[in-house]
Amino acid sequence: MTTIRTELEPVALHVVGGRPEIDLAAAERAVADLLVALGRDPRSAHLADTPKRVAHAYAEMLTPREFELTTFPNDEGYDELVLARNIPVQSLCEHHMLPFHGVAHVGYLPGERILGLSKLARVVELFARDLQVQERLTKQVADWLQDHLAPKGVGVVIEAEHQCMSLRGVRAIGSKTVTSALHGMLRESPGSRQEFFSLTGISAT
Ligand code: ZN
Repeated sequence: MTTIRTELEPVALHVVGGRPEIDLAAAERAVADLLVALGRDPRSAHLADTPKRVAHAYAEMLTPREFELTTFPNDEGYDELVLARNIPVQSLCEHHMLPFHGVAHVGYLPGERILGLSKLARVVELFARDLQVQERLTKQVADWLQDHLAPKGVGVVIEAEHQCMSLRGVRAIGSKTVTSALHGMLRESPGSRQEFFSLTGISAT
C-alpha cells in the first residue's frame, strides 16, 4: 500500500482581488464631465481620447493581477526571519484619488509552511491596487499573511510618498509616511521585533 504524504506537497491557492465591477463607459462619461466642470472642452482634439485613457488608467490601477499563492512545507525547520525588502508599492489614496508610492518591507517567522519569496510582492499588490489609506494597506497585508500562512510572526513596514501631500496642500515634497503592522512573535517578543525593524532599516521605538 502506498501512503501519499500530502502534507509534503506544495499547496497552491489561486488568489483573485475580488474588486467591485468597473463600468468603463460610465467612468469615461464621468471624466468627460469632470473636464467640463474644470472648464475644459473634452471634444477638443487634444482631449478627445482623454476620458477613455483616464478610465482605463484607473481601472488598471484598481485591479490587482491574479496569482497562485504557493506554499511549501518547512521541512528544514527554518525558524529565522524571512524578509523581503524594498517591494515596490503603488497605490491610490482614497481621499484624493492621487497616487502614493514607495516600498514595503515584509517579513515573517516561518511556522509549518514557507512561501515563494516573489509571492510577498504579489500580496502587497493584491491590496495596493485599490483605493487605500496607507495604514489600512499595511494592516491588510499583515493580516492576510497571518491568515493564509499561519507564521509564528509577521511584520510589514511601508514607507511611501503621497502625491496629495507633495503636489498640493502642504507640498511636502520628499516627505515619507511610515506605517507598520506586526503579528505574533514580531509583535510580542522585543528581540524579534528589534531584529525585524533593524533589518528593515527603520529605527524601532
Ligand atoms: Zn490623499
